[in-house]
Amino acid sequence: MTIQIPRGTQDILPGEVEKWQWIEETAKKICQLYQYQEIRTPIFEQTELFQRGVGDTTDIVQKEMYSFQDRGGRDLTLRPEGTAAIVRSFTENKMFGLPNQPVKLYYLGPMFRYERPQSGRYRQFVQFGVEALGSMDPAIDAEVIALAMEFYRSLGLKRLKLVINSLGDRESRKAHRNALIQHFQPRINEFCSDCQERLEKNPLRILDCKKDRKHELMASAPSILDFLNDDSSTYFKQVQHYLNAMNIEFVVDPTLVRGLDYYNHTAFEIMSEAEGFGAITTLCGGGRYNGLVKEMGGPDTPGIGFALSIERLIQALEAEDVPMENNKQMNAYIIALGEKAKDYSVALLQNLRRDGLSVERDYMDRKLKAQFKAAERLGAQYAVIIGDDELSSGVATVKNLVTGEQKEMALENLKEGLLD
Ligand code: ATP
Ligand code: MG
Repeated sequence: MTIQIPRGTQDILPGEVEKWQWIEETAKKICQLYQYQEIRTPIFEQTELFQRGVGDTTDIVQKEMYSFQDRGGRDLTLRPEGTAAIVRSFTENKMFGLPNQPVKLYYLGPMFRYERPQSGRYRQFVQFGVEALGSMDPAIDAEVIALAMEFYRSLGLKRLKLVINSLGDRESRKAHRNALIQHFQPRINEFCSDCQERLEKNPLRILDCKKDRKHELMASAPSILDFLNDDSSTYFKQVQHYLNAMNIEFVVDPTLVRGLDYYNHTAFEIMSEAEGFGAITTLCGGGRYNGLVKEMGGPDTPGIGFALSIERLIQALEAEDVPMENNKQMNAYIIALGEKAKDYSVALLQNLRRDGLSVERDYMDRKLKAQFKAAERLGAQYAVIIGDDELSSGVATVKNLVTGEQKEMALENLKEGLLD
């Protein structure tokens, strides 16, 4: 048996990888505009980080982690998400003491979850996410949401739907929690075993259950919005006010809860409404997590962020038929005929490349005609023909492959000529 790629992973081959590069460059550009700085944390962390940071009752921790022991007996896990590690790093590097507050960070890299692979769901996937730590200004919530929307918009997505909700502060959540328990308890035996466990541990997450989403008690469940105290309610109104000020459309959905335990106040999701997108429509999820930094042993610091995957973004781009840019230019293909010309071309290519030109030559001993074909296939702007005659006269024949026009060019001035 030949060895195959692990289940739930994918190779991103040339031809496809340009899309990724374009998306990644766009993400970096957007973060520069919004003044978020990149942070890179390890691909693996202590397992306990995620148990505490993501939460014991979440699907991620209970079912989806790639955990292992290293040769030194340490319990480690391939990171399933970005926030916990950023909070660790924020605390460990005392970023709360930096003069610039809030601390605005972004990350872009692979995450690992042991899930059932399907369209839009992989075991290794790439997340782009941002975190703003240290501010409790509702305008930063709106900014984080705006950044995600602007990222998608600038890539060409149009059929987006932004859904927001508030999970309130601790007091509001407590009141809501009690109401949820009362609501579900009498008929909890009609729910899946996960939900039965959630009832006492974290009843909010019952609303997030994928198996029982159609149960009649779901639609009639008490709404968090009816339990927001004055502070929480004012905060939520402010966030909406700022979104309106930026002309960002949204709908409020009181059933939106995030799967992670540490969220409070603002929660949001961005979905694709493109036809043919498939069953899983969520492109991006985020929210506020004021308790997390303290929970992880740092000083009490509020935070808000989002995460989105590039895989689902590409799916949405394809569903909307957005043309993906690929303007990687190749300047010239050098066709050398004869041994001397070949020798000369080796050095010529090196020099042109050092001068910043993208150039290629033949390594397959192809005939002239086949070399022209190769040049066209590669999208070269020019073909440069150098034979023994051209070498002795110091003048090459240069064909513009776009216009078909052919002219002579002094070898000395090749660089300038090709950049024309
Ligand atoms: P879902 O409900 O789809 O499982 P989630 O709540 O697990 O999502 P988050 O942990 O909030 O998702 O991750 C943020 C985003 O990352 C999701 O909105 C989605 O775009 C993407 N994502 C999550 N899991 C995967 C995966 N296995 N493969 C590809 N993208 C993913
Ligand atoms: Mg998930």
